[in-house]
Amino acid sequence: MIGPRPQVAALKPYHLPDVKADVILSANESPYNLPQSIIDEIKREFDRVAYNRYPDPLSLELRQLIGECYNLGADNVIVGNGGDEVIQNLFLAYGGPGRKAVTFDPMFEIYGITGRITGTEMVSILRLPEDLLAEPVIAQSYDIDAALVFLCCPNNPTGDMVSPEKIDELLRNTSALVIIDEAYAEFSKQTAVPLLSEYENLAILRTFSKAFSLAGLRAGYLLAREGVIENLLKVKLFFNFSRLSQSIAKIAFTHRDIFEAKIEVILKERDRLFSELSKTDHIKVFPSESNFILFRTEKPATQVWQGLLDRGVLIRNSSNQALLENCLRVTVGTPEENNIFLKALREVV
Ligand code: PMP
Repeated sequence: MIGPRPQVAALKPYHLPDVKADVILSANESPYNLPQSIIDEIKREFDRVAYNRYPDPLSLELRQLIGECYNLGADNVIVGNGGDEVIQNLFLAYGGPGRKAVTFDPMFEIYGITGRITGTEMVSILRLPEDLLAEPVIAQSYDIDAALVFLCCPNNPTGDMVSPEKIDELLRNTSALVIIDEAYAEFSKQTAVPLLSEYENLAILRTFSKAFSLAGLRAGYLLAREGVIENLLKVKLFFNFSRLSQSIAKIAFTHRDIFEAKIEVILKERDRLFSELSKTDHIKVFPSESNFILFRTEKPATQVWQGLLDRGVLIRNSSNQALLENCLRVTVGTPEENNIFLKALREVV
């Protein structure tokens, strides 16, 4: 039988270990489910949905709602099944054979995976090995004739930010479409949105999966100039975003203020976790502007990861990524979960 395209044959399926644990701090999700008032509204909406009808292929009401919040129009927004789907749309429209995309690694791995699936040449610029910052190496991308440049801010998994001035400089020095991935911007409170009026080569990615407690839904969106959005609409699956997804995302976005209190709790816990980790022997901690923290252990990361799992705590072993030897990433959980993690970690390291 015929095989797949060579680029696909060379890939391994992206999967996370299928393990059960009492305390799950591995995927940068919110530790809090949706507030009950939102769940109640979703239940009422479920009684009204015309399940027999296809959804609006353009998700117009949701795009309008999101756009208004940024003083933009629906034609500046595209939504998808998680930011991941929007990233795929970006590669389908702007990547592909003969085109290059730049990442500043280690960064969110889905860019590279999706790039390779679409036959895009991925150019990986490495961060400085000591502090893992992107800012000092961004200028290395200016001479690359790339179609896409991805900058994750705050970065998953290192937690660092790039200053607005540097983002401005990047936008001025490349003709590539620059994607600032702000999946965690609700935690860092820094956004490149004001730069959209100045730069036509800017796109900003957001998600409902983190601060909005909706990783289970699969909803994300991208903000950009009309021309960019139009190109992405050309390549997206026709009925990509279900009626239920559109309804739930609309309800959550309308009530987005409700999530503020929990964001503040997570940030306080992040700072506490950072300070406790900094006091823990045999590890080096990287500062984070997000809802997760990266740290390096003296012991092999796999041993630490397994030791935590044996104590009922699942975190992310990041040590397979460039420059991240013996690094692990922990998501900020509830205060109780964080205490269980800290106790287990001190036993293991
Ligand atoms: N960007 C970054 C940096 C992420 O960490 C994630 C999720 N892990 C995403 C985008 C995509 O999130 P989702 O597909 O859940 O919207």
